[in-house]
Amino acid sequence: MAKAVAICTCERCGKTFERSNKLQNRSMADSWKEWAEEHFTVCSECWQAERQEAERQATEATNNLYGDITVGTPKQIAWAVKIRRQAAERLEPLVKRLKSEYQEAYKIWMAKELSNPDAVFWIDHRDDVDALAFGTPVNNYFIIRFKESIGIQ
Ligand SMILES: [Zn+2]
Repeated sequence: MAKAVAICTCERCGKTFERSNKLQNRSMADSWKEWAEEHFTVCSECWQAERQEAERQATEATNNLYGDITVGTPKQIAWAVKIRRQAAERLEPLVKRLKSEYQEAYKIWMAKELSNPDAVFWIDHRDDVDALAFGTPVNNYFIIRFKESIGIQ
């Protein structure tokens, strides 16, 4: 085994940072080092800050679209806002998977569902929101509610 230590420079803050790896031999380690120094261009602090900022913006966009969550303690509301943002991210793209005759009804249902201002509703259904991330969620709580809302099984 050969250890490779790349010294990378963050293109955001200018700080240098290390990335290391273990490879089969020296020549592989050397070429990984060269590759890594060229490709790791953002330090973990800047990467985390960018992720947090992206998350803040996504949350704000969701709140603007569907209104604030107003019912609950401040702690419940803060948690529910995150769950509801994930719900929006997962429910919004599903419209494309529906037959065209259901798409308009789905959009109306979804906007109403996502406008639920009750923090406890979102906290209670966080597992159902998680489940939306996996596969075709036909038996998902939200999908069942949508189907019920338009009278299909
Ligand atoms: Zn940085």
